[in-house]
Amino acid sequence: MNKFIFVSGGVCSSLGKGVAASSLGALLEGRGLNVRMVKCDPYINVDAGTMSPYQHGEVYVTDDGAETDLDLGNYARFTSSPLSRANSITTGQVYDAVIRKEREGRYLGRCVQVIPHITDEIKARILAVAREDPDTDVVIVEIGGTVGDIESIPFLEAARQMIHESGKANALSVHLTLIPEVAGGELKTKPTQHSVKAMQEMGIQPDLLICRAPVMLDEATRRKIALFTNVDPDAVFTSYEVDTTIYEIPVVFFDQKLDQVVLKKMGVESRHANLKPWYAMMDRFASRKGRVRIGIVGKYMELHDAYKSVYEALFHAGLECGVEVELVKIDSSGLEETDRPESLLTVDGVLVPGGFGQRGINGMIKASAWARQTGTPYFGICLGMQIMVVDWGRNVLGWEDADSTEFNQNSKHPVVSLLEEQVDVTNYGGTMRLGKSETVAEPGTRLLAAYGNKHIFERHRHRYEFSNKYRKEMTEAGLKIAAMTPDGSLVECVEWPDHPWGLGVQFHPEFKSKPTAAAPLFRDFVAAARDRGRSGK
Ligand code: GLN
Repeated sequence: MNKFIFVSGGVCSSLGKGVAASSLGALLEGRGLNVRMVKCDPYINVDAGTMSPYQHGEVYVTDDGAETDLDLGNYARFTSSPLSRANSITTGQVYDAVIRKEREGRYLGRCVQVIPHITDEIKARILAVAREDPDTDVVIVEIGGTVGDIESIPFLEAARQMIHESGKANALSVHLTLIPEVAGGELKTKPTQHSVKAMQEMGIQPDLLICRAPVMLDEATRRKIALFTNVDPDAVFTSYEVDTTIYEIPVVFFDQKLDQVVLKKMGVESRHANLKPWYAMMDRFASRKGRVRIGIVGKYMELHDAYKSVYEALFHAGLECGVEVELVKIDSSGLEETDRPESLLTVDGVLVPGGFGQRGINGMIKASAWARQTGTPYFGICLGMQIMVVDWGRNVLGWEDADSTEFNQNSKHPVVSLLEEQVDVTNYGGTMRLGKSETVAEPGTRLLAAYGNKHIFERHRHRYEFSNKYRKEMTEAGLKIAAMTPDGSLVECVEWPDHPWGLGVQFHPEFKSKPTAAAPLFRDFVAAARDRGRSGK
């Protein structure tokens, strides 16, 4: 029988629920359990694909092409849970499915209601993940939002029903709260007390509390929280501020015996804990020497979550290359008016990440041209590769109006243009080229050197492509086409000739990077930037 752990949050958002749920997943995997991760998002959007990164951070893409919440990225980095469309449940999907069934007459004349129809749909989706693989031991279900939100009520109600139906040992509630510090350094437990009351009003008694606090809670504070919340004192844990990395959180929880308490409450016999990969990662973290400055030139620079997987992948690459990666966030719009890109002068490498829309494009092209001309390592991802192609058209071939048709439909040199099948698309949800597909690397390329295998499988999320019409002129002028789709129809990677490391890919390697195994292209890019920095440029 599967076990379920529902992770909810209270007091306020952004407490690191995704990292807490993922860390719990990592610990249970360390104990040899087969874990699946699920995210419930209370928003009405069917998926995150149509949302601005400013609204909800990056869109994380799965192998099967689902455009999901960025927490799935956390699950991918901390655990080995398979992740697909099924692991991301939104209010939009649930209502969409229920309304379709209603239109098909499948409710046999009954009045369709939140309870039981919406909650049944939510439960069915969670159970479907549990049943995908008969070997699944535990499904960790993270419920987005904060207890008390109107939108999350059906999800908490579904959790309540599942806890009740599964029985105590088979379903746990883990609730994450905030312990704020007031003037004088005093830690306050009242918001946690209220938050647990809000859970109890929903009919759920949390089994474990994870309290986000500036420092480790002392015994007296834990006892006080326990007294007011009906939670055992040994089940009150602290997620304190670490000054290292979020990847230390599994170890922080392990040291407090969080996994032991979970196993005991679920009636699972204690097994040997293997945290070796996490300790090894922390050793690598501590032994990094020197610093590499990577300029990320994009348009959503104010919001760290907008390029979350890219930043994490750079960090992973730093672990592998033995250096600290300093993120220099450069708003591309700011580069547009200047001839001397001051912010670029002190970076060791330039990365242009994925993106949509016109704003700041010319600044990115400037950054690409600058990196190309100064021999600065450059890594283009998706839009960042298209930028390399536009730069090559404009500044090497001299076609002043070279552009992507995403930005200029009247260009006489549309070097990047709409995929054939995208021409008539008017429905913007889930209709891009999405998900995992094969790329075949050419011999003698940096791409092949990075992967060590010419068959590369990475994820895509884009509508526009290198325009094949210009392939001949572009390559005759020296641009190297480093990879294609297996049928030879689409360009997947370009590289600059005679350059220390200038490469752009149409896919998104950041989604598969892990702290214990950096994505190969990030690793080689950071290594190139490190070597250039060390050689004094
Ligand atoms: N806007 C570009 C396209 O749709 C790039 C997309 C991306 O970078 N993810 O092709």
